[in-house]
Amino acid sequence: MDHPFRPVRIEDYEPLIGAEAVDRLEDKARRLAGLRVVNVSSTFYGGGVAEILSSLTLLQQTMGVRADWRLIQGSPDFFSTTKKMHNALQGGEIELNQLKKDVYEGVIAQNAMRMDMAADVVVVHDPQPLPLIKHFRRTCPWIWRCHVDLSRPDSDTWNYLRSFVEDYDATVLSLPEYARETAVPQLFFMPAIDPFTLKNRPLSDAEMDERLGHYGIPTDLPIVAQVSRFDRWKDPMGVIEAFRLARREVEATLVLLGNVAIDDPEGQQVFESLLAAKEDRILILTAEDSALVNALQTRAAVVLQKSLREGFGLTVTEAMWKGAAVIGGRCGGIAHQIDDGVSGFLVSSVQEAADRIVTLLRDADLRRRLGTAARASVRARFLMPRLAEQYLDLYSAFEPRFVLHRRPDANLDVLPGGALAGRSA
Ligand code: UDP
Repeated sequence: MDHPFRPVRIEDYEPLIGAEAVDRLEDKARRLAGLRVVNVSSTFYGGGVAEILSSLTLLQQTMGVRADWRLIQGSPDFFSTTKKMHNALQGGEIELNQLKKDVYEGVIAQNAMRMDMAADVVVVHDPQPLPLIKHFRRTCPWIWRCHVDLSRPDSDTWNYLRSFVEDYDATVLSLPEYARETAVPQLFFMPAIDPFTLKNRPLSDAEMDERLGHYGIPTDLPIVAQVSRFDRWKDPMGVIEAFRLARREVEATLVLLGNVAIDDPEGQQVFESLLAAKEDRILILTAEDSALVNALQTRAAVVLQKSLREGFGLTVTEAMWKGAAVIGGRCGGIAHQIDDGVSGFLVSSVQEAADRIVTLLRDADLRRRLGTAARASVRARFLMPRLAEQYLDLYSAFEPRFVLHRRPDANLDVLPGGALAGRSA
């Protein structure tokens, strides 16, 4: 990028996705020029949703779609309840009593009072802001975008949340296996990364050395790394155990880098529970530092993402993009990203993870082969334009309901024939 504040434009992707794809996206975006999209989520940083929205909304803006991103505010009680719901949706236990429901719905009602939701499409992300829909007279499509693994939810929690979900016009989930029985149309969009951010763009050796040095990360031995929010579903303790087993056979340094999102009150506790495992060759770090994430994912001989549940796992895509040899937990979105033995390894236990660490640390050729396939797979499947195009298609699918109303003086020539033919008003 020429200027640090110059936003990424779709044409910047041409070397990666080809001119035809760029033209197609530009064409689709042109038909939606001026469309006002409001995204609502619960955190501006920390976690995959924030990561995606920062890039996606800017890319959409540069394509002429007025993509906005709002945040709900929540008390610690609220986030403690929504974190429990999140755990329950992923198969954990929760007692969802009336008090918790009142906190949840009450905070969202207060947020709704402060929010102006004039838009052509509203996209609500994850369970935290889900009940917002109850507070607005609907003049446009509302979409619920859920990033959580919904394959085995606690049934009481899901039944409760479903009463909100069913007011939406569509839901977008990360994978077909997360589909639930509901009358609302369900679509499946896997997340994607922005290869031009500080986290994902190539760094020079000097830049990487500087970042690793700054945090006292030794580079004399191969690095095994996991970069993840401190969350029990990411199994940081399992990573430490696997590393300890592997270290009986190979020498390496483990770096666990993690952060705590503002909507996740359990993070600090998980972080503290790991500190006793710290030693010379087991580093447990917490820092909000994209360049450090980049340096670690690029320099590590092995990147782990040993999750037990994972809606998608953006960290896996990020590491694969850097050509890393990745070992991922065989679950959720990770199993869709890693072709086992081809673009990384999938593991189901601590022992398996340990065995794979040993195999990879002993075989630089294998690491290179897996890393090359991993990067090619991200380039083909997980870059931001693919996701941006899925959203454009989704917005267009609703077009007959609002486009003429929104732009009475619109140039009808630029509207797709199908939309005009199908409009009801
Ligand atoms: N992340 C980060 N610093 C950290 C830990 C995580 O920047 O210390 C980022 C990570 O690079 C990725 C996102 O947070 O972009 C995590 O997304 P993912 O889908 O892997 O997991 P989530 O946190 O959404 O469950």
